[in-house]
Amino acid sequence: AAAVVGITVIPIVNKLQDIFAQLGSSSTIDLPQVAVVGSQSSGKSSVLEALVGRDFLPRGSDICTRRPLVLQLVHSPRRPDASAGEGDEWGEFLHIPGRRFYDFGEIRREIQAETDREAGGNKGISDKQIRLKIFSPNVLNITLVDLPGITKVPVGDQPSDIEARIRTLILSYIKHKTCIILAVSPANADLANSDALQMARVADPDGSRTIGVITKLDIMDRGTDARDFLLGKVIPLRLGYVGVVNRSQQDINLNRSIKDALAYEENFFRNQPVYHGLSHCCGVPQLAKKLNQILVQHIRTVLPGLKSRISAQLTSVAKELAAYGDVVESKVCLSIGCINCIT
Ligand code: GDP
Ligand code: MG
Repeated sequence: AAAVVGITVIPIVNKLQDIFAQLGSSSTIDLPQVAVVGSQSSGKSSVLEALVGRDFLPRGSDICTRRPLVLQLVHSPRRPDASAGEGDEWGEFLHIPGRRFYDFGEIRREIQAETDREAGGNKGISDKQIRLKIFSPNVLNITLVDLPGITKVPVGDQPSDIEARIRTLILSYIKHKTCIILAVSPANADLANSDALQMARVADPDGSRTIGVITKLDIMDRGTDARDFLLGKVIPLRLGYVGVVNRSQQDINLNRSIKDALAYEENFFRNQPVYHGLSHCCGVPQLAKKLNQILVQHIRTVLPGLKSRISAQLTSVAKELAAYGDVVESKVCLSIGCINCIT
């Protein structure tokens, strides 16, 4: 039943989000989004990309994500009739209206170019959003936000207070009660020191909207594993953890596909006895499933509030309209089939 609600409710929410984005900051309605937080190079962009199933985000061992990227996934039907060069999947940027990007490599280059336009070419960051829609038959309808990671030491054009600035920027997204937080921590660092879990706790103290994501399970120190962490025995999280294996820098350099990477991940978990019996919290597909369930539940809870706010706005607009109503009706009637006009 949950899936059915997901299919019917989430597109409406996405539509509302679009409308409010066009209305600008005057809108006071908070809608659910999913944001990634964590330290730089923890694998945030990799996790988002794996969820989308396409290569299009700048990733790397250096700072890549330097502006918030608001990524709206739109489930759209298959197009068996699509002509060559076009396909079922494309991206559209808010800053380039009307242009469809069918080449996902080109989407990545445009994100990089647009990042440079606003934040400069030398590692600077900016809080100005890049908004991108991805249309695809292979995605769930959700809005994801990729954010710059936390760094401590300023490099390039970064100001001396870079860490504080990035924390403020991240907080401005994850503080909203309607934001679902993916707290990304790499398994090859001490998880008790995780910036992601620390920030998530500041914004969401009771952990009701934080999912822990543990990346890089494949490159943990030999003899260690993340089992206790995934089970929530170290730092408990109400919504739990999901462990993932994404592509390494070498895989990226070698152009390894996401499809291969998913198969590799599945194989990894199958061949590691320590993760047997933990299939509910292992792998990108599990993360997608968990996210969708949480999102649907989330929307169910916020919907009544949204509805009453929209009806309140509607009532006030209707009143305003009524104030002009007499004038309009006495001059011309625009209604089709109006009983006063049928003579
Ligand atoms: P971000 O800065 O948090 O967005 O991190 P990125 O997604 O850009 O990833 C940083 C680096 O870590 C890249 O070189 C990725 O290839 C690598 N990486 C991310 N996830 C994994 C993983 O699960 N395993 C391995 N081996 N490398 C990963
Ligand atoms: Mg990134």
